Amino acid sequence: MHLLIDDVQLWDGTGSPAQPKMSVEVRDGRIRWIGSASQWQGNRATVRVVDGRARTLIPGLMDCHVHYSSPGGPEWIARFTDPLPEISMRAIELAEASLRSGVTTARDVGAPQGVSIRLARTARTGEIRAPNIRAAGTWIAHRGTYVSFARQFGEADELRDAIRTEIEAGVDLIKVALAGWNEGARPKDAPDIPFDKKLLAVAVEEAHKAGFKIACHANDPTSCRIAAHAGVDSLEHGMFLEAADLAAMEKNKTYLVPTMSVWDAMLYYARAVDWPETRKKRAEDLRQGSRAAVAAAIKAGVRIALGTDAGGGAARHGRIAREAELMVECGMEPRDALIAATSSAASLIGEAERGTITEGKIADLVLLDANPLVNIGALRVIAAVFREGQRVA
Ligand SMILES: [Zn+2]
Repeated sequence: MHLLIDDVQLWDGTGSPAQPKMSVEVRDGRIRWIGSASQWQGNRATVRVVDGRARTLIPGLMDCHVHYSSPGGPEWIARFTDPLPEISMRAIELAEASLRSGVTTARDVGAPQGVSIRLARTARTGEIRAPNIRAAGTWIAHRGTYVSFARQFGEADELRDAIRTEIEAGVDLIKVALAGWNEGARPKDAPDIPFDKKLLAVAVEEAHKAGFKIACHANDPTSCRIAAHAGVDSLEHGMFLEAADLAAMEKNKTYLVPTMSVWDAMLYYARAVDWPETRKKRAEDLRQGSRAAVAAAIKAGVRIALGTDAGGGAARHGRIAREAELMVECGMEPRDALIAATSSAASLIGEAERGTITEGKIADLVLLDANPLVNIGALRVIAAVFREGQRVA
């Protein structure tokens, strides 16, 4: 496809100010030319012209934390254990919903039975309408903690084996989950978090040695302490991060992927589905905690990449705009929230050919009917989505 997005306000994702009256030419999936609309030399009769007037063009959005195997909603954990055919079919639908909301690249950071690996591969072939997906395969967690459908280990050797097994299965990154003991699973005298500093160091070493990035789930105070200092590539959630943790993350170049949508959605369901008081209280506390952590992370200069945790918590798919709005509510400039969702996310994921609108890069683009630099809610008014130069929404 050969197209010209004509006479548009261009925000290229690099952090430079938006430029008015620009045109972007796309051919064979790549950005071929960028310049002032009046300077374009081609023949309008031979290209598909997309009207960009009073619109803003931004790089395709990246969601660094999704789970396409679950739809989210009030019973999200149970949905991960639905029959495999149902999970597989649903994952295709949810990935498409995500794409239509402007997400052209997504990291699927945990799915039962490697569903996400197959989904990512199928997306790559172009057989389904889906974002470019980077899959973590199955979560890796210590036995007796976290969810029953994670890949579980007890000792360091087993942990190394688990990581190698995931790599052999074809993952794009490794996802580990630090968590406390499940009810009744805690052995006598065991520490709060059995996936401790030493074991996490083993995981980081094993993943990095093989050339893979490692994402670490941490959503309790002790796990946040451990994960922030471990040199993981990204810390997911992180509602209990404190000043010393944030300083360590800044030093280690560890990204924070805050997933605030989850607590926002939890609070909604707590009221809508009438959860017990204790669960409502927890939803409120986590929401407050995440807001405080993000505000402090911004001040501390920690790199932030956007992730919704759609499917992995109560948050549903296709609502990336909400996460960006929450970031702005926590004190981020709209521009920085957009960077978290584009070039910063691309650096975390390792997508050198995506994340900015630059000549030669892959043409993943979102056209908006309003200006997100003025009002981040403009991410909700999508005029068009292009993935690899093809219009997909
Ligand atoms: Zn998650």
